Amino acid sequence: MKSSAFVRTRRLAQAGSFFLFLRAALSAQTPAPPAPASPSPSAPISYSAVHVDGPYIAMTFDDGPSAKLTPELLDILAAHHIHATFFVVGENAIAHPEILQRAVREGHEIGNHSWSHPAFAKMSDAKVRSELQKTDDAIRAALGGRPVLLRPPYGSITLRQKRWINQEFGYRIILWDVDPLDWKRPGPSVITSRIVKETRPGSIILSHDIHPGTIKAMPETFDELQAKGFKFVTVSELIAMGTPMPPKQQLGSEGPTPLSSPGAATPSPSPAPSAGAGLTTP
Ligand SMILES: [Zn+2]
Repeated sequence: MKSSAFVRTRRLAQAGSFFLFLRAALSAQTPAPPAPASPSPSAPISYSAVHVDGPYIAMTFDDGPSAKLTPELLDILAAHHIHATFFVVGENAIAHPEILQRAVREGHEIGNHSWSHPAFAKMSDAKVRSELQKTDDAIRAALGGRPVLLRPPYGSITLRQKRWINQEFGYRIILWDVDPLDWKRPGPSVITSRIVKETRPGSIILSHDIHPGTIKAMPETFDELQAKGFKFVTVSELIAMGTPMPPKQQLGSEGPTPLSSPGAATPSPSPAPSAGAGLTTP
């Protein structure tokens, strides 16, 4: 039986660890141009890339954590002094909270990638809500703080869903502009060359830390991107660096602009990108 004193103590403990989580997240940030204050009502809610003044990019890894591969990847990231963003599947997150804890301790960001990896676009709001809430709970249980980012599985999400999810959960919806199609397992050298060829300042790069070939590709990928001068930040750091972009110079525009605010978002493809979107974009 929980007494109210117990609940209060537990809440205090949660608040304390949330503060630590925030502090860790903040201290992990690299020096950046002054970040905009808290999102304004007109702040973009969806990103496939960010318009930035500088060679900043965000590497993202989906579908983990994997008991074997994610720790290997964390070693590689640490050796390259790179901070990345992990969009975790709740079923895996709850099995390996220690991997999430290590990732955050080492400066990486954790985002929600649903509980069981379904395509949201044709699901009921109740089912989507349950997928999101269970993973939010799993991440909070592991880290003491809530995620602020969502990547919908397969990029499958409607504009209406983006809006209510942003309102209810406070998430920004993160898609991508570079897709090496690593899930098709084309081999490490192909993964590297696709990423290096397509990455631009402000890019959000999609990949998966559940495929051995992806992990094998990362040392060379990081070497080549760093040799080109790119600097790696987490997705939230990249968004905080966003600068307004002049009209007519919108990066990666692949469809109508769903959110025509003057903020830093690159218009997200609508409907969501197919798996090959990154390769067919100019
Ligand atoms: Zn996924």
